[in-house]
Amino acid sequence: MDASEQATGKNVSLLSQVFHDSGEKIQNCFQCQKCAAGCPLNFAMDILPNQVFRHIQYGHRDKVLNSKAIWLCASCHTCSTRCPNSIDIAKVMDTLRAIAHREHAASGDKSISMFHKFFLVLTKYTGRTWEPGFALYELQSGGLGGFMAWGMKAFLKGRLGLKFGLIPMPGFKGDKKFRDLFTEVNKGGAR
Ligand code: SF4
Ligand code: SF4
Repeated sequence: MDASEQATGKNVSLLSQVFHDSGEKIQNCFQCQKCAAGCPLNFAMDILPNQVFRHIQYGHRDKVLNSKAIWLCASCHTCSTRCPNSIDIAKVMDTLRAIAHREHAASGDKSISMFHKFFLVLTKYTGRTWEPGFALYELQSGGLGGFMAWGMKAFLKGRLGLKFGLIPMPGFKGDKKFRDLFTEVNKGGAR
């Protein structure tokens, strides 16, 4: 096994793996909690951004990779701008999602990772968010009841207007280049 394989395998610490993939030094975190205090999603997270870092420092791999928090992070970068140690926390969260995805880690909330997958597949093939496609997500995650409730709400708000069509357009300007980006990201991970 070469150095690169070692740094991406499950036999190395998550701390080393995150450093390898993102270049960020989690060991510099001294738990000031400024990241968690400013995070707009902190109310919904099972573990706060500073706690994610503490678990990484302690080697609690599953606790981090199975958390809801890494999937709830909206990459707003508020935490990264507040960190006194200049750790790019948003980049670390992105890296953790990539590792969790690569290793098929069970998400703390399956509907969140499913939402990400729907979003990526839809944007990859249609070039935009396509609301009727999200109706399928609602059907998967919330069953028929959730699907009907979401569909009615979206329709009443004008998000399911027929002007976009019920079938997405398969081609759009620059679609090949756009899809190549997905291929590159899949090859190179989160860096
Ligand atoms: S980037 Fe993520 S973790 Fe950081 S403040 Fe925004 S939502 Fe919270
Ligand atoms: S702001 Fe930076 S140093 Fe403070 S807890 Fe968050 S990651 Fe750690």
